[in-house]
Amino acid sequence: LLDPRPVTTTTTTTCGYCGVGCTLDVHVRDGEIAAITPVRSAPVNRGHACIKGRFAHTFVRADDRLTAPLIRRGGQLLEATWDDAITVVADRLVAIRDRHGPDAIAMISSARATNEENYLAQKFLRTAIGTNSIDNCSRLCHAPSAAGLTASLGLAGGTNPLDDLDRTDCILLAGANPTEAHPVVGARIKQRVLAGARLVVIDPRRTELAALADVHLQARPGSNVAVFNGIAHVLIAEDHLDHDFLNQRTTGFAELARLVEDYRPDLASEIADVRAADLIDAARLFGRAQRPVIVYGLGITEHAHGTDGVRTLTNLALLRGAVGTPGCCGILPLRGQNNVQGASDMGALPDFLPGYQPVTDAAVRDRFAALWGHAVPERPGLRIPQMFDAAIAGEVRAIHVIGEDIVQSDPNAAHVRAALRACDLVVCHDLFSSRTAEHADVVLPAASFLEKDGTFVNFDRRFQRVRPAVTPPGGAASDFDILHRIANAMGVDLGCRTPADALAECASLTPVFAGLSHQRLDAEGPLHWPCRTLDQPGEAVLHLDRFATPDGRAALAARPYLPPGEQPDGEFPYLLVTGRRLVHYNTGSMTRRTPNAELLPAEALELHPVDAAHLHVVDGAEVTVASRWGRVTLTAHLNPDVAPGQVFAAFHFPDVAVNDLTSPHTDTATGCPEYKVTAVRIRTEHAK
Ligand code: SF4
Repeated sequence: LLDPRPVTTTTTTTCGYCGVGCTLDVHVRDGEIAAITPVRSAPVNRGHACIKGRFAHTFVRADDRLTAPLIRRGGQLLEATWDDAITVVADRLVAIRDRHGPDAIAMISSARATNEENYLAQKFLRTAIGTNSIDNCSRLCHAPSAAGLTASLGLAGGTNPLDDLDRTDCILLAGANPTEAHPVVGARIKQRVLAGARLVVIDPRRTELAALADVHLQARPGSNVAVFNGIAHVLIAEDHLDHDFLNQRTTGFAELARLVEDYRPDLASEIADVRAADLIDAARLFGRAQRPVIVYGLGITEHAHGTDGVRTLTNLALLRGAVGTPGCCGILPLRGQNNVQGASDMGALPDFLPGYQPVTDAAVRDRFAALWGHAVPERPGLRIPQMFDAAIAGEVRAIHVIGEDIVQSDPNAAHVRAALRACDLVVCHDLFSSRTAEHADVVLPAASFLEKDGTFVNFDRRFQRVRPAVTPPGGAASDFDILHRIANAMGVDLGCRTPADALAECASLTPVFAGLSHQRLDAEGPLHWPCRTLDQPGEAVLHLDRFATPDGRAALAARPYLPPGEQPDGEFPYLLVTGRRLVHYNTGSMTRRTPNAELLPAEALELHPVDAAHLHVVDGAEVTVASRWGRVTLTAHLNPDVAPGQVFAAFHFPDVAVNDLTSPHTDTATGCPEYKVTAVRIRTEHAK
C-alpha cells in the first residue's frame, strides 16, 4: 500500500490458511495483489491477522504455478490442452468404473476447497461414478472430533463461538499450540489470560502459552485419556460437579464414576509422567471456575485412541455443566485447515451426505436421489487409509485427489506411494507440482482461494464468504469448474451452475443449512450453522435446550486408558511428535513460495539438550532419524521446551519428508492417523 499508484479494487474475503477464518481485505493494483489487511469489523479476527494470512500471498504469482494441464506420456508429465486432459480423465474413469465397478474409484476431496466445491465433489462421486468412497483430510486430523462430539453431544461441531473466550475465567487448553497454528486465537487466549483468566495447558511441549499457564501438564504423548480420567476422578472426589445438570441432561454418570475411581491422581500422573500435585491443581482450577472453556487441537485427536480422547475431555465439561447451558463457554475444537469443518459438513465423507445425514438411512438417500435424479449408493465408502490399502490390494484402481499433497501430508509415506503406484489412474488438482503429482497420470491446474467464489466454514461453525480478488493465472481453473467439465465429458449434468446454486441446492436438502445462501451471507455477514430457516440468525451456542442425541441428553463416556500404537523401546528409544510452525502452513506449498520462507527456510528436529548431550549431538548437527517405517535426515535444534525422551518436527518441507517416519497406527474409531506418537532412534551422521 506504500506504492503511490491507486489500488484498483479491494475485495473482502476469508483467509485460506487456517480454520480460524479471519476476514481479510485484498487490495489489488493492476490485477496483482498489492496488500492484504485484516477487517476491523470482522467478528472472528476484529482487525487482526497473522503472518500467513496477511503476508503470505505471493505464491499466487509464483513462477512455478501450474497454468496448464499435464498428462503423463512416455513416463513424463507433459503440457496438454484442457480438452485433452478432461477427455483422458473422463474416459479412463468411465473405463475403470465399467470394468471394475464404481467402488474401484476413490476421491480425496479438499479442506482447502470451498463448501460448494466439496458439495459438487461428493455429488460427482455419488452420481457420475456411483460410490461413497469420498473422504477429506479431516480423516487425518479431526475425524475423532466429529465422532467423539457426535457420540457425546449429538453434533460434530464446537459448541460455542470464539467470542465466548472473552467471558471465561478458566481455559483448559489441551493438545494445541494456537500461537503458532491458530495465531489469532492464540492472541485472544493470551489477552484473556493477561486479563486474569486461569490457564491450564496439557501439552508434551512447553509452548508459549504453556509458559504463561497456571498449570502445565507436560503429559507423555499418548496419555491423554489417563490425564482426563484423572481430572474427572478429582472433580468427582472433591465434588466439583453440577448435580442438577448431570441429573437432568446427561446419561452415564454412574458408569463413568466407577471407571475413574481407578484413575487416582498418583496412578494417572504416573501414566502421563506428570506430577500428581499438578494434575490435582489442574482439576481444581477447572472445577472451581464459573465459566470454564475447553480449547483443544490435534494433540488430542491424532492418536490411536483419539476419539476416546475427545470423549473423555468432553466428560470434563459435562461434569461441570459447562456445555449447553446459558452463559457457558463450551468446547472449542481448533480445526486445522481453512475449510476442514466445511468439507465434512458438505458430505465429503464416506458415510455421510451433507449435514452428517447418514448414507445408510434410506429416507435420506431417497430425498437426495429425488433431486439429483440418480440413486445414492447405500454402502458406506472407504476412508482415506482404507483407500490406500485397497489400492495396494488391487481393489481401488483410480484415486482422484483435489488440492492435497497426500504423499507429503499423510502418514507412512512409503505406503501412500505404493498405493498410488498400484493405481491405473491418479488425478490431481493442485496449484503446484507436488510429491503426489510425481505419481499422477493427469495434473489439473487449480485456482487458489484468492481466485475463487464460494464459502468456507471456520472452526466455530461460521459460514463465511470467499470472493475472487484476482483471476487465476493462465489456464488454471477452480475445482468447481474442473468437476463440471469432467462430469460433462462423462455425459453427466451435475446441475448447480454457480457456487451460489450449489449452496442453495445443499441447503434445500440439509435441514441444518436450510437458512443459508450466498445472498444472505452477502447481506448479513457470517452465519453459524445450524441455521434452519431464512429468518433464523444461526445457532452460535449449541445444545441450549437439549443435546442433539436421540434421547436429548449428553452421553458421558467411560473409556479406559489404552496405550498408543507405539512405545519407545531399546531399538527406538525416543518419541517423535509432529506439529506445525508459525510461518508455514501444512505441506508449505503456498508459504514456501512467499517471503515467509526467509524466516524459516528449512525444518529442524527439536530435541532436549540432555538427550543431545547423551547422543553427542550439537546444535546444527545433521542427524538421521529412523522409525520402523522410514528414515530422514534433519538438522538438530536443541530446545529445552521439548521433554527429554521426545523430539519434535513439522512436515512443511518436501525435502525433509517427516511423514516417511510416521506410523500406520490409526484411531480405532475413525482411522485418524497417530501422527503424535512415533518411536524413533537418532544417529549422528558419522555414527549412522
Ligand atoms: Fe489466516 Fe489463521 Fe492467520 Fe487468521 S489466524 S490470518 S485465518 S492463518
